[in-house]
Amino acid sequence: MSLKLSIAERLGKDVFELSGQRHILVDARVCREKCREKPCLYFCPADLFKLNAEGDIVHDCDGCLECGTCRVGCPHEAVTWDYPEGGYGVSFRFG
Ligand code: SF4
Ligand code: SF4
Repeated sequence: MSLKLSIAERLGKDVFELSGQRHILVDARVCREKCREKPCLYFCPADLFKLNAEGDIVHDCDGCLECGTCRVGCPHEAVTWDYPEGGYGVSFRFG
């Protein structure tokens, strides 16, 4: 019998080594002034883009899967993206 895991359960198996440095920067001014739809609220598989009480986008690097979706998916080039510095970031655990 095979056991199917939910996406949250699969992501919960991953291990993150945090460097304390932000490897993704988001220009909140561009988000506020140019982006009405805010698709990052939907396309980040780790759900790291949120709206704060003022309606501004806030982004948390912790838990980033390094998929690069926000790098190519932001329609206003508000995301400055790099991999975490050597040795840090996500380690995927399959199974
Ligand atoms: S899609 Fe890009 S510009 Fe729009 S809110 Fe998200 S990060 Fe900002
Ligand atoms: S690289 Fe992927 S997981 Fe990381 S913040 Fe961007 S969309 Fe989310």
